[in-house]
Amino acid sequence: MRYTRPSTLAETLADLGQGGMALGGGTLLLPRDAADVGAEQLLVDLQALPLHDLIVDGGFLSIGAMVTLARIAASPLISPAWKALAQAAHAVGNPNVRRAATIGGNVAWPGGDLHAALLVLDASVVCDGGACELPIRNIIEGGVRGGALVTSIRLPQDDTRHSAYVKFAWRAASGKTIVAVAASTTAKNGAPRLAAAGVAARAMRLPDAEALLAGGPVTPEAVEDAARAAGAELPFEMAKPPGEKYRRRLVAEGVRRLLAAVRS
Ligand SMILES: Cc1cc2nc3c(=O)[nH]c(=O)nc-3n(C[C@H](O)[C@H](O)[C@H](O)COP(=O)(O)OP(=O)(O)OC[C@H]3O[C@@H](n4cnc5c(N)ncnc54)[C@H](O)[C@@H]3O)c2cc1C
Repeated sequence: MRYTRPSTLAETLADLGQGGMALGGGTLLLPRDAADVGAEQLLVDLQALPLHDLIVDGGFLSIGAMVTLARIAASPLISPAWKALAQAAHAVGNPNVRRAATIGGNVAWPGGDLHAALLVLDASVVCDGGACELPIRNIIEGGVRGGALVTSIRLPQDDTRHSAYVKFAWRAASGKTIVAVAASTTAKNGAPRLAAAGVAARAMRLPDAEALLAGGPVTPEAVEDAARAAGAELPFEMAKPPGEKYRRRLVAEGVRRLLAAVRS
């Protein structure tokens, strides 16, 4: 592997444009074999770039791509509105992983556990220092375009929003995710937003369940109907155990728990 640590965005984009691979916290990239990454592969370390800010400004929470998951989990800026994101960050790996892992690396990785939370929080992903801004859904579905750099994640501010996240994992410490569910409500857009990972190949919204909660009070009966719909609606695309029935039951259980949490 070859290594470089540029200090400007222009140098970084030039290196990535030549086939370099962005290196965030390295928690995914560095445990791989050199053979896996390739001896000639250029790793472009992002640590020296000004991508470490976590601020609320102009009606948005803006999180630099190099902000660590530990910082997100502990930040006093992450109000109840964005709690789902803090909970998702806290659920990743273990304390050592979270101290190094970055939000940019998590978003760029197709299996990133923050995806479900970012979906229900209407996040967008800013690339190449502002050259483009895409809804998180586009990144989840299409990945980060080759040579592109995630520079920040933006979440709209809405003080009426409540959100929550739950992860079901193999075991508590460093537990690999089986299913993750996120929910968010706001006074403005009516029905709760719901998303789940661990049934389809990517995190997805749960439109059938959301529709059942639209336009009426979120009664215990409505919650149960929505939970059942959530468990049934995603395409099953997971190759590894546990099986389909178990994963679908976890989605339904996650929706039950989260709807109780975001309503209280
Ligand atoms: C023990 C262990 C447990 C883990 N548990 C979890 C878990 O529970 N949930 C979970 O989601 N993940 C988990 N992970 C994976 C990983 O730690 C996280 O997904 C982490 O957020 C990745 O971020 P990073 O900065 O370390 O990425 P890196 O390893 O630096 O990079 C990961 C990928 O993203 C690309 N990339 C990085 N930054 C950018 C950027 N700014 N722009 C464009 N592309 C970029 C890299 O080129 C690479 O392809 C675990 C890892 C370990 C080692």
